[in-house]
Amino acid sequence: MFDSPSKKEECGIVGIYGTDDPAHLIHLGLYALQHRGQESAGIVISDGENVASHKGMGLISDVFKEETLDKLKGTMGIGHVRYSTTGSSMLRNAQPFLVEQIDRMFALGHNGNIVNVASLRRKLESKGAIFQTSTDSELIAHLILHKKGALEERLVKIADELKGAWSLVFLTLDSVIATRDPYGFRPLCIGRKGDAIIFASETCALDIIEADYVRDVEPGEIVIADRNGLRSVQGPRKPHRAMCIFEYIYFARPDSMIFGHGVYKVRKQLGLQAALESPVEGADMVVPMPASGNYAALGFSQGSGLPLEYGVIRNHYVGRTFIQPSASIRNLGVRLKLNPVREVLEGKKVVVVDDSIVRGTTSKLRTKTLREAGAKEIHMRISCPPIRYPCFYGIDFSSKGELIACSKTVEEVCQFIGADSLAYLSLDGMFRAMPYPEAHFCTACFTGKYPVKITEDGGKTCLECGPTDSLRWP
Ligand code: SF4
Repeated sequence: MFDSPSKKEECGIVGIYGTDDPAHLIHLGLYALQHRGQESAGIVISDGENVASHKGMGLISDVFKEETLDKLKGTMGIGHVRYSTTGSSMLRNAQPFLVEQIDRMFALGHNGNIVNVASLRRKLESKGAIFQTSTDSELIAHLILHKKGALEERLVKIADELKGAWSLVFLTLDSVIATRDPYGFRPLCIGRKGDAIIFASETCALDIIEADYVRDVEPGEIVIADRNGLRSVQGPRKPHRAMCIFEYIYFARPDSMIFGHGVYKVRKQLGLQAALESPVEGADMVVPMPASGNYAALGFSQGSGLPLEYGVIRNHYVGRTFIQPSASIRNLGVRLKLNPVREVLEGKKVVVVDDSIVRGTTSKLRTKTLREAGAKEIHMRISCPPIRYPCFYGIDFSSKGELIACSKTVEEVCQFIGADSLAYLSLDGMFRAMPYPEAHFCTACFTGKYPVKITEDGGKTCLECGPTDSLRWP
């Protein structure tokens, strides 16, 4: 990703029922989903009578040691990796979120973002609810506690009250339950490994534990794994889906299948479309911006007939740049992470392919570095349209003021980043690369068409970034 510091990921969830070592399997699954969140991680396990949990700040490797996993004994469990899209980054907000009452226990892991948090929270507080964290996941827990019936019945009841995006896994003492919001914004799949049933954000978490992909949890569906096997309850669903199109463009792993289709092929197809739309006459080569531009660059290369060259090398041992707190340290992280190859670039007219530009600051820095490495001309090709609107459904794009395409034309962005030319993929080109028709996707960050209303005061205030005066709302 050319512009990583301002495009932060969301969360990853795993649930497993019916195995004698759930902690180690969930641990592996979370490793596979580490790209979806690096701030904190947690696992909760049940043996049918008691629960054991461990949570911590940082990467999976920081949070879990062998001896910790050995203590998490049971037959079912859920796990979570977190990047905070609501609530600050602190241990208290780490998930899974555990609710223990005299007669009830459940834990939940959430991927997504609830957009009517403020009004729901006010309502619950007026009924006596006391919140321990600033996450919308706790809000979901409180809503559940205020309903009656089995957990799946309560989930059906709260689905109309909650607005926004949620893929959830729950652990009770004797079951694991998975559900998605009625639009199906975030992915969630079902797998099997022998008798064990697995739920995971992406199929790469199934692959790592050698589980077979069965199907996706459908939008609005509640899938229960317990001693009776697997059963399903259909909660409210919308006439059309709103699957996050950006999962295909950037967020999901290229070796995953999400929403029932492989990510790799879609990314390559996006690059191919970009080559058809915006060829570069007389270019010497296509250079991917690793790692997120790799697959689109391959498509661009195949679509244009230009050779693919690795003109930028990624240092895999440098942490992800966006977890650094200050801008100066972050920029240093960017320089450390990607290094241009002079012998590839010197004197060459290069097409640089990346998945997106968010703020443009990192792109600018990279273009400068490529020129310093001898590139004669740099033609940027982006495998999606300009990001002009913030996301309120679980992806922490920069706030409105930081989205460069919100305030600048393509030509101005090109000047800002210092490229010789810049072309984004068109909306039509993006849809042509997708495995489903346009109507099945959320495209709000490109089009401003928000499937779920994102404000609670008539559109004047964004819940995450304040007054929206300068945003181009639909
Ligand atoms: S606004 Fe963009 S990033 Fe957010 S859910 Fe919609 S498509 Fe995905």
